[in-house]
Amino acid sequence: MSLTNLIGLSFDGMKVALAKAGVPEKAIGMRARQLWNWIYVHGARDFASMSNLAKDFRALLAEQFSLARPEIVTEQISNDGTRKWLLRGSGGAEFETVFIPEPGRGTLCVSSQVGCTLNCRFCHTGTQALVRNLTPIEIVGQVMVARDALSDWPSTGENRRLTNVVMMGMGEPLYNFENVKAALTIVADGDGLALSKRRITLSTAGVVPMIRRAGDEIGSSLAISLHAARDEVRDIIVPLNKKYPIAELLQACRDYPGLSNARRITFEYVMLKDVNDSLADARELVRVIKGIPAKINLIPFNPWPGAPYECSDWEQIEKFADVVNRAGYASPVRTPRGRDIMAACGQLKSESIKQRASERLAQLRSQELRMPTQ
Ligand code: SAH
Repeated sequence: MSLTNLIGLSFDGMKVALAKAGVPEKAIGMRARQLWNWIYVHGARDFASMSNLAKDFRALLAEQFSLARPEIVTEQISNDGTRKWLLRGSGGAEFETVFIPEPGRGTLCVSSQVGCTLNCRFCHTGTQALVRNLTPIEIVGQVMVARDALSDWPSTGENRRLTNVVMMGMGEPLYNFENVKAALTIVADGDGLALSKRRITLSTAGVVPMIRRAGDEIGSSLAISLHAARDEVRDIIVPLNKKYPIAELLQACRDYPGLSNARRITFEYVMLKDVNDSLADARELVRVIKGIPAKINLIPFNPWPGAPYECSDWEQIEKFADVVNRAGYASPVRTPRGRDIMAACGQLKSESIKQRASERLAQLRSQELRMPTQ
């Protein structure tokens, strides 16, 4: 019988699992709280280490449950300290997680899907064929793997290394809403992984009908991958724009619950040479977002093999930032991190397709072997 993984279950789900395992009803609430604390505050990796639980109970837990994280396939460390893990989930699907250390904080860039269906033209992940949603185990598991590797337990400790989570890895989080919500509920739980909602940012390419729900039900900070201020350009570089054009997207931003000057939306804008980087583009950008409490994050385009674009010249990025700045918006230019290990924005891509292709080949070969010889 396979063990039930307790990671990624909701608190109520954990109670149900304990009831099924035969824990007496009176004890379930307390047991679930104890386990929750061991798993998410202390990062326990086995039941034997849960020293305040009776030995018999620990044995019962070990017979039925596991605390398995996604398997680490590779870890790469950039010369700027950025770390990238390639992880393997159930069924062999592979996905990446990136940790970006900065003075006084550390951000984990978390994936929501294996691959991505959006096919933004400048993004490497979109060239990957295999796509599936990540499960709550796999999403929460990314944070746990990072804390394990960074020796960053307990979650509630002072001077934590992992202080922020951004849903900016592979995939579109709003196409995997339920699993992302389940995972972020645990990440934001003060008795769980204990990162406050303002330290969690959900980034979307603009799945308009889900933005309101994200605000109401997840309540994290919001980032929008805008990248162009005119529909003709955005239709090409972010094809989702044909379904949800800029005006509708910005209306959803205006309606985002809890928006204020203290809680601004981040607009991400990748700088593509001669595509979206003219000063007229900059002026159009500040015109269309008028009235939205916002910050503009300018992202120098990170190249990848075969990419159809080039990064804007540095001088042009500065001039563009100037126009945005003078209109009253903070416009930090994102320093590319981890480019040497292909860990920077838009460079993530796992080999899951290749693996699938090689699996197919192996299958074909074994079929060939079984074919009767003439
Ligand atoms: N699908 C979500 C989450 C991915 S976030 C979204 O689109 O927001 C990844 C961020 O990196 C997005 O803002 C994306 O547009 C940006 N990005 C993708 N490819 C890039 C590249 N080659 N260089 C720089 N930024 C890139």
